[in-house]
Amino acid sequence: MEKFDVIIIGAGPAGLKCAETLGNSSLRVLLLEKNAEIGPKVCAGGLTGKDLAFLDLPDELIEFRYNQIKLHVNGLSTTINTGNDFAFTIDRRELGQWQLQKLKQFSNIEVRTNARVFEILNDAVVVDEQPIGYSFLVGADGSNSFVKRFLGFPPRNRGIGIQYIIPTERYRDFEFFFRPKYFAAWYAWIFPHRRYVSIGCGAFRDVIAPADLKRNFQRWLSDRHIDIRNGRYESFPMDSGYEGIRFGNIYLAGDAAGLLSSFTGEGIYQALVSGEEVAKMILNPDFEPVKIPEVLETKQKHDRLIQMMIDAGNARSLIFSVGALLFKIPRFANKAIETFG
Ligand SMILES: Cc1cc2nc3c(=O)[nH]c(=O)nc-3n(C[C@H](O)[C@H](O)[C@H](O)COP(=O)(O)OP(=O)(O)OC[C@H]3O[C@@H](n4cnc5c(N)ncnc54)[C@H](O)[C@@H]3O)c2cc1C
Repeated sequence: MEKFDVIIIGAGPAGLKCAETLGNSSLRVLLLEKNAEIGPKVCAGGLTGKDLAFLDLPDELIEFRYNQIKLHVNGLSTTINTGNDFAFTIDRRELGQWQLQKLKQFSNIEVRTNARVFEILNDAVVVDEQPIGYSFLVGADGSNSFVKRFLGFPPRNRGIGIQYIIPTERYRDFEFFFRPKYFAAWYAWIFPHRRYVSIGCGAFRDVIAPADLKRNFQRWLSDRHIDIRNGRYESFPMDSGYEGIRFGNIYLAGDAAGLLSSFTGEGIYQALVSGEEVAKMILNPDFEPVKIPEVLETKQKHDRLIQMMIDAGNARSLIFSVGALLFKIPRFANKAIETFG
């Protein structure tokens, strides 16, 4: 049987960052990706300053930089301007390919695409009916994590994100729309990219059933006269159910670990930092994670906030309206961006 020291399942931001951090070590690493191409993922491609600080992305990968965002609460619009760039858009295919390129320098890392893991055993994974042995296994396989299920935690996938990718250069503002009648405690977004725009929304399935969310989204698109005729519709689960990172010689990272924010839907940063720190834990059993605890602290705040907004029921419109007014105060806006971003 083929054998590796570390097998990472999933070449999203978490798996790729984990592999990069294991680069140049004495460990033989295999990164398995079920898709033919690394990068593309149902995602709006929005980043905040902390992603950028962590990633050190080359300028050409950043599509747009924003020092202002537009917030729309019911009919009222507010522009928040902080003076500093704090929101960015990137293309997921380009991000994945850039992360992949970095792995090419490491002779101890092997990447296999079209390699879906169909079975997990205590010391091997099965790909194309062939077992491949591991000493450490990393589940970086996203919101529908197979590894999480193997560990006995069914992915909760309480959330769902839906979007249209529309090939147009018409939209240039970074916008959020709070319409409780359509999206309850969540929001719709418009995130412009160079060659397309992502227009989408998300919610918990037990608060708005996916079919209702889709219907509400269509109504909202039609209210705003957004032309989706050339758009590609996409949807994907969002698992924000955290169960832990380390389970003996098996680790979870990114969405597989449920680190995605239940409030903003943001998960790229969490995937990157957890991928890195999981690798450091494998390299040094005494390594104490630093960034994962910070991510978990923010996550707890977001979980409390979203529960509060769900419980607020009809008072949501009022809360969002007061929030939008407070956002006009620069100190409040900066603090809120720090909390949400
Ligand atoms: C509609 C939508 C919009 C979003 N917008 C944003 C945003 O603007 N900003 C942001 O920060 N986050 C956003 N997110 C969340 C973000 O996409 C995820 O948090 C992020 O991709 C998580 O990275 P990951 O590496 O953990 O998992 P993923 O990116 O999901 O990668 C997992 C990889 O594992 C592979 N895989 C799965 N199963 C197997 C298997 N059995 N065998 C082999 N390979 C497998 C998959 O093909 C995939 O490549 C959005 C999510 C949705 C649904």
